[in-house]
Amino acid sequence: MTRSIITAAEWTLGRDTGGDTPEGIYSVVCMSCGAASAPTHNERLPGEVWALKHTGLNPGHRQFKARAETFWRVTPAGDNPYREKEAQAS
Ligand SMILES: [Zn+2]
Repeated sequence: MTRSIITAAEWTLGRDTGGDTPEGIYSVVCMSCGAASAPTHNERLPGEVWALKHTGLNPGHRQFKARAETFWRVTPAGDNPYREKEAQAS
C-alpha cells in the first residue's frame, strides 16, 4: 500500500478488493504468431499450460508475453475531507 499527499489531501493507493474485482487477470501471448490464451481470473496455471501446449504443437514458437492485470483503488486517508464524506454515505 502506498500513501502520498497530493494537493494537500492525503490518499492511499492499494489493491481494489471490492465487489467482484478479481485479484488478477492473466493471459499469455505467443511472440511468434500472436496467438493468445483465454484470460483467466486469479489463476496463472491455465496460461502456463496453454504456452506449453502451444509450443508442443508449434515447436518453433517458444517466446511468450505473460500479461497480468491487477486492479487498484485510491481512497482518502488521514484528514482528507473525502474520508468523512464517504463514512457518512455508507
Ligand atoms: Zn505461436
